[in-house]
Amino acid sequence: MANDKKTRPLLNAKSYEFQIMTEIQRAKIILKHLNKTYPKIKVPLRSRNVFTLLISVLLSAQCTDVNVNNVTKNIYPKYYRPHHFLKLGRKKIEKLIKKIGIFRIKAKSIYNLCRILEEKYNGKVPKTFEELEQLPGVGHKTASVVMSQGFGHPAFPIDTHIHRLAQRWGLTNGKNVIQTEKDLKRLFPKKYWNKLHLQIIYYGREYCKARDCYGMTCKICTSCYPNRKKPIITKKP
Ligand code: SF4
Repeated sequence: MANDKKTRPLLNAKSYEFQIMTEIQRAKIILKHLNKTYPKIKVPLRSRNVFTLLISVLLSAQCTDVNVNNVTKNIYPKYYRPHHFLKLGRKKIEKLIKKIGIFRIKAKSIYNLCRILEEKYNGKVPKTFEELEQLPGVGHKTASVVMSQGFGHPAFPIDTHIHRLAQRWGLTNGKNVIQTEKDLKRLFPKKYWNKLHLQIIYYGREYCKARDCYGMTCKICTSCYPNRKKPIITKKP
């Protein structure tokens, strides 16, 4: 964690008045609490190799992980390589994923993506952000998930949960997801990123949901903001 020797003490020993914490101090408390709450963390999207992980992440846009898993559990036992999907063709891919939102657009992306993987990468998923982000239907967030969960490369994919929680915990001003990613990468050491982004997502789903919160119900906020008086307003991505 970044050097925080110069930060103010959390508690004034004489007056016992809490001081305003720095971002670094809050980040330390949050990390400790999340490690305690989720010592082990499971990747929520099921896959059988990096390629199927890429497909699942692509399918998860505007769709829940549970829904994606329910659909892919009937696909991946049989189709799990780019050439399998190419052989199927767009129409059949549409049929297989029709229970998922915007399935026509996603089927088109999957088909075109498989074609590129076969033609340019010998059927393999490329291992760099630049190459991944050039694939159809793959943005920076999807590329970050694949780099992190597929290749174990340090990355910090920012979804709506992470964007919301980082604001509520005072780790970013929430200007946009690019800024949130920069701020979180600055505050947490690289070695924690891959686990931490999942821990924050799980915490957001379980405790810190999208509805308004006064920020006084969980240990994280009561520890980081003991004097909080106003409800927290967060900006959407
Ligand atoms: S107190 Fe509210 S804002 Fe803070 S972590 Fe809990 S649910 Fe989230």
